[in-house]
Amino acid sequence: MTVAFSETEERQELRRQVAKLAGKYGREWFTQKARAGEKTTELWLEIGKNGYLGINIPEQYGGGGGGIGDIAAVCEELAAQGCPLLLMVVSPAICGTIITRYGTEEQKQRWLPGICDGTGTMAFAITEPDAGTNTHNITTTARRDGDGWVLNGRKIYISGVDEADNVLVVARTEDAKTGKLKPCLFVVPTDAEGFEARSIPMEIVSPELQFQVFIDDVRLPADALVGDEDGGLVQLFAGLNPERIMAASFSTGLARFALDKAATYAKERVVFKDAIGSHQAVAHPLAQSHIEIEMARLMTQKAAALYDAGDDMGAGEAANMAKYAAAEAACDAADRAVQTHGGNGITQEYGMAGLLVATRAGRIAPVSREMILNFVAMHSLGLPKSY
Ligand SMILES: Cc1cc2nc3c(=O)[nH]c(=O)nc-3n(C[C@H](O)[C@H](O)[C@H](O)COP(=O)(O)OP(=O)(O)OC[C@H]3O[C@@H](n4cnc5c(N)ncnc54)[C@H](O)[C@@H]3O)c2cc1C
Repeated sequence: MTVAFSETEERQELRRQVAKLAGKYGREWFTQKARAGEKTTELWLEIGKNGYLGINIPEQYGGGGGGIGDIAAVCEELAAQGCPLLLMVVSPAICGTIITRYGTEEQKQRWLPGICDGTGTMAFAITEPDAGTNTHNITTTARRDGDGWVLNGRKIYISGVDEADNVLVVARTEDAKTGKLKPCLFVVPTDAEGFEARSIPMEIVSPELQFQVFIDDVRLPADALVGDEDGGLVQLFAGLNPERIMAASFSTGLARFALDKAATYAKERVVFKDAIGSHQAVAHPLAQSHIEIEMARLMTQKAAALYDAGDDMGAGEAANMAKYAAAEAACDAADRAVQTHGGNGITQEYGMAGLLVATRAGRIAPVSREMILNFVAMHSLGLPKSY
């Protein structure tokens, strides 16, 4: 009998296997890599080899034939072991989903196997310095040039460009009849002439970096365009629900990691007569975090279940709410974990303070908490649009 509100035995086993694999690496290994300016390629390739990286992509292209719920579970368990991989959100979940849905047969065969085994990672670039949250204002433009395209523009905060072979770039093309710009997606090789990426110094302790991207007269073949030139935003939106579900899982995983460390410390550290966890002032905030994390996980699983069942509208509301709840739960869990550790909470040895920034990023990216509140106010409550 299936028990409502719990994941299938298969999904739970997937979680156990991923946790076991990531546990071999662990937080210390991950932060050492980050501080040494090195990459976590071994882990990336190992999850690829085990079939977890492309678990959501159809089997004929090297994937596992599963859903977003599966890849979200992988993402969460990695983070819960202290190895959060942002590129999982981007490469298999956003780019993999869009190419699976809208790519030609030839494009799928060319790009999906590398996304699945980790040898052909794909970054995703929509954010621009001047447009920011208002992605309708992006100005990266593709103009026709013979059979192909010439791309020009600027992108910012693009994750993992140095680890990617290609970037799925959101640009615009000019409508021949109206002259209006319409959104389009292009796969741009990171070694293309005219493509340059400069890393942005961030305060996040992670081997995965963010980049400013300069695209100057980059020539692309005709088949760099993914999807229909007139397909518009619908094609882009195909990647957004997976993005939010994955971002939520990234946050709940980090939150679980922080809470686990805090609870362990609270049981061991004695300064008066009993362990500090015996004081309700220490225990209650951690209990609160446990509740908030479980609520966020439940909403994330609901969003994934709706998405995998093909209910894009229902999944949209749930994915936004999950992402919001998960980011809030993670920020609070990290803060409480630091407090529980006292002075140790801000040492490099205990590695708790780094989680403050890592979890904080979840309130900003890939979509800010304010934009989620705007979405819920408008779509769930029917309030007027405010912007
Ligand atoms: C770690 C990290 C990784 C990232 N990776 C990628 C990536 O791989 N690819 C990519 O394309 N982008 C990436 N981004 C960019 C990210 O998606 C943006 O930072 C985010 O969408 C916010 O845009 P912005 O930074 O320009 O903020 P702004 O748009 O300048 O917003 C600033 C503030 O104003 C608020 N605000 C703006 N408009 C409104 C409004 N109408 N109502 C209420 N509040 C509003 C925002 O919520 C925010 O708090 C990443 C960012 C980070 C931090």
